[in-house]
Amino acid sequence: MRAQNTRDASQSIPLVEALFSGTASNGGLWVPETFPHFSLLRAKGDRPRFLDIGPDILRTFLPEAPMEWLSELFEGLYPTRFDHPEITPLLECGGSAGLARTYFLELFHGPTLAFKDLALTLLPHFMRYALRVSGKTGRLLVLTATSGDTGKAALSAFQSIPDIQIFVLYPEGGISSIQRAMMLEEQATNTRVFALKGDFDDAQRLVKSLMNDLEWREELNRRGIVLSTANSINLGRILVQVIYYFSSYQDIVDRGTIKLGDRVNYCVPTGNFGNILAGYYAYRMGLPIGRLVCASNRNRILNDFFRTGVYDLTAHSPLVKTLSPSMDILVSSNLERWIFEVLDREGEKTAELMTSLTRCGRFSIDVSAKKDGDLFFSATCNDLESLETIRETFRDGALLIDPHTAVAVYALGQYRKATGDDTPCVVHSTASPFKFPEAMLRALQRDTGSIDDHTRLDFLSEISGRPLPEAVRRLRLVRGREPESGNPEEIRQRLRQYAFEGW
Ligand SMILES: *Cc1c(COP(=O)(O)O)cnc(C)c1O
Repeated sequence: MRAQNTRDASQSIPLVEALFSGTASNGGLWVPETFPHFSLLRAKGDRPRFLDIGPDILRTFLPEAPMEWLSELFEGLYPTRFDHPEITPLLECGGSAGLARTYFLELFHGPTLAFKDLALTLLPHFMRYALRVSGKTGRLLVLTATSGDTGKAALSAFQSIPDIQIFVLYPEGGISSIQRAMMLEEQATNTRVFALKGDFDDAQRLVKSLMNDLEWREELNRRGIVLSTANSINLGRILVQVIYYFSSYQDIVDRGTIKLGDRVNYCVPTGNFGNILAGYYAYRMGLPIGRLVCASNRNRILNDFFRTGVYDLTAHSPLVKTLSPSMDILVSSNLERWIFEVLDREGEKTAELMTSLTRCGRFSIDVSAKKDGDLFFSATCNDLESLETIRETFRDGALLIDPHTAVAVYALGQYRKATGDDTPCVVHSTASPFKFPEAMLRALQRDTGSIDDHTRLDFLSEISGRPLPEAVRRLRLVRGREPESGNPEEIRQRLRQYAFEGW
């Protein structure tokens, strides 16, 4: 299987190389050349569906990967690193009518309590495999911008992996205090963390511009260093995320609630459009998805795009900080991969739109007239609405959801109100509520003012009756290191310098 460049469809590379290649040299993203069909329909064994289906799905894209190796990776990594035997448990919560026919897919049982763990757990192993089969020897330098969760998940997955160094950039002041503490706790010598004076978009822009600095990449190559990224512009992440769309669907079938072939909707709290894009890929692979509900917080640029066809940075800047920081994004990178599909894979036209975005801060395209144009429904939720949703879901469904998941639950309510469609819906629970203790206590109207995070966490655990996850309990004992901080230009200089050190 090969991967195509979204900005030049005539250019392709073996898909396996896309696992470490970052962006294409003209700034385009790599996408699978075709979407292989994947059929479910398998007897229920005693293994979690995620482990059961995972290797098969990945092999549809990487047929040359040895099945045994893939199965060993899944069996070796997920059960030891995830704290739930189902890996991605699917919860139903009864209670009020608003939550009927709603499933919560908990994607936060990994080491850093957010859905990013699912793909990032595999990524370093994929990258090493991909380098080897592509005949590349040498080292990998992984640059990663984070809106809060990717950074920690990448640090955790890449720490102490031989021949790889990882640099993480986060927006100073733009992430939750627990997210920050988790990121700075990491001590492995192959990792570095930078606090950027700017927002997530600035961090992502810096990573992209370094990826596209062909001269620097050449210089690195001469010293045997390959430049890559762990952001969701890396196709490997998207492919792993396809798995839990299929496995959750199969879970519902296993429960006898639906028959194989019945439609299910998915509602996804969205920022960089990576997770929901994986849903679109699953749909193209034959999963009977009815609608994909794209949920945004107050940074509602995607919502306005789906409603008007205009993607307008100038109208939405500056980015606002919300209680769902991992979705505080305006330049939603993976939308480009969807646009490429909507345009029937016209690379030139995609490139034109993306150039217009860089040059003029906007582009427009009539999505509703296109193939799959009405597959997506979008809705937004502000901080007050998300706090209220957390409170109501806890009160009516006895379920504690984090502020990102709350945006999705609210958006689903909007969708059902607008369409009357009560098809069963899987809501992606993307983070653990224990990553956001301050917002959670505010939502539950139990905020006691100026107490510290650890006291808040204990309190939250007591109120919810859920034990504190190890990943946050541990923070009490460790002293974090200080990040290096600076404006984008300063960080760029230092990154370029460090790239050659520490190997
Ligand atoms: C990253 C993240 C999102 C957004 O996912 P995208 O793939 O960037 O759209 C939503 N919620 C949480 C908790 C996240 O960490």
